[in-house]
Amino acid sequence: MPEGQLAAILGPKGWIRTDDSAPWSRDWLERHGEPPLGVACPTSTDDVAQVMAACFRAQVPVVPQGGNTGLCGASVAGKAGAVILNLSRMAGIGVPDLAGGSVMVEAGLVLARLHDALEGTGQMFPLHLGAEGSAQIGGLIGTNAGGSQAFRYGMMAELVLGLEVVLPDGTIWNGLRGVQKDNAGYQLRKLFCGAEGTLGVVTRAVLRLHPAPRQRVTALLALPSFDAAVTFGTAARAEAGEFLQAMEFFSDPGVDLALRHVTGLVWPLESRAPVYLLVELGAGSDCVPLDAILAALLEQGMERGLVLDGTLAASGAQRAALWRLREDQPEGQRLEGPQLKHDISVPPARIAEFVARGAELCEAAVPGVRINPFGHLGDGNIHYNLTPPPGQAGFGGQDGDLALALAALASEMGGSFAAEHGLGRSKIALADALRPAAERGLHRRIKAAFDPAGLMNPGVILAEVDKYNLPIA
Ligand SMILES: Cc1cc2nc3c(=O)[nH]c(=O)nc-3n(C[C@H](O)[C@H](O)[C@H](O)COP(=O)(O)OP(=O)(O)OC[C@H]3O[C@@H](n4cnc5c(N)ncnc54)[C@H](O)[C@@H]3O)c2cc1C
Repeated sequence: MPEGQLAAILGPKGWIRTDDSAPWSRDWLERHGEPPLGVACPTSTDDVAQVMAACFRAQVPVVPQGGNTGLCGASVAGKAGAVILNLSRMAGIGVPDLAGGSVMVEAGLVLARLHDALEGTGQMFPLHLGAEGSAQIGGLIGTNAGGSQAFRYGMMAELVLGLEVVLPDGTIWNGLRGVQKDNAGYQLRKLFCGAEGTLGVVTRAVLRLHPAPRQRVTALLALPSFDAAVTFGTAARAEAGEFLQAMEFFSDPGVDLALRHVTGLVWPLESRAPVYLLVELGAGSDCVPLDAILAALLEQGMERGLVLDGTLAASGAQRAALWRLREDQPEGQRLEGPQLKHDISVPPARIAEFVARGAELCEAAVPGVRINPFGHLGDGNIHYNLTPPPGQAGFGGQDGDLALALAALASEMGGSFAAEHGLGRSKIALADALRPAAERGLHRRIKAAFDPAGLMNPGVILAEVDKYNLPIA
């Protein structure tokens, strides 16, 4: 391998040898990652193209990496000896096009930095998630990230207008168009959204902006059941429609985990309930009576017995404190110990049914298992995460069976077993078991068309079999 070549292309700060690369080698959940040959840290698209061409000539696998917050093991090497291509040093932001509602950014830009940069422009980038302080635009595109506002503004694929991508042999594709309407052939940019670094390296993107809300109201509500949450969600869509920005649900076991392990959290309600909803409304105009809309919604909810209690954020600090109760749940559960994460989606009307049927499955397999379902009510995305029963170190060897049973249930209910985190390395077996043969065949053909040598993040999305070259079944 031309390590010397990579060092020459990237300079001393741009090529980090294996022995120095530990922080980049393992994934966020500490489940995946073999020692890489080294970490390449380019500063320009040309650097990336040269690195890709050198690796292509030497037939060395490449793993694109952003903030390394992905939850399926796709941002680290599956086998020893790959080059990790970390985009952190490509973090530039262009001048926003306020008339067209877009901005060009480099792939290594951290999402929170983009939010900060747009403050005061009257526009915003409407993607929010718990890892936004580390996750980068390239990684968000790679996973087609969703988050709390996806039901209103779409997932990453709907927020990308144009892309620049370096292909596996080092060819640069410049598709940096800044328009919403572009039907000049196949929707290539969308193919890279959710490709998890298996088709090419995203180097720049033109992102779609939306008007920033001038006012916002946020409430934390306590509810008697998931059924009540679904019914309330339907009423909220009818009453608050275009102003709804978030409807995040979580349950009491999740609150326990967060309060036990994460410092600085304060419980704001007088009592506890089975289910909670964080509801947020926003409007781009000061003339919209958001307070009155939310008040009417809550009154209606209480009259119908759907809402038991609630509190409104009276300041930005209170809003942030309410959001932390939701967003610190993954951290609370991680600190509790071993866990199984399931990133499910079902049609929103069937959330309560999934939670109940899932609980039956889990309880039968591991009596006393602690279930922490939380997620995004508006798009039916349930993070159905499990912690072993108190005093137990694991799930009695049922991990794989539980994942398959829950995934099969989601599929049977018209949903997905990989809603917003992707397949990565950890869900390929599920995909092989549950995806129709024709769909598997199409995936292999796409992979073979872009990356016939199988050098781009091998072992992610598809298992490494006969160079992905199987016929469509
Ligand atoms: C606390 C927490 C909360 C989270 N909440 C959410 C959530 O609400 N919604 C959600 O969707 N996800 C969520 N995630 C998952 C994660 O943050 C997202 O998957 C995010 O998109 C990953 O971004 P990253 O920069 O860390 O990418 P990485 O983890 O570095 O990479 C992710 C994938 O993208 C590929 N990739 C990275 N950069 C590029 C590039 N330049 N070109 C091509 N491919 C690339 C990688 O190869 C890999 O396959 C959460 C994670 C954590 C830890």
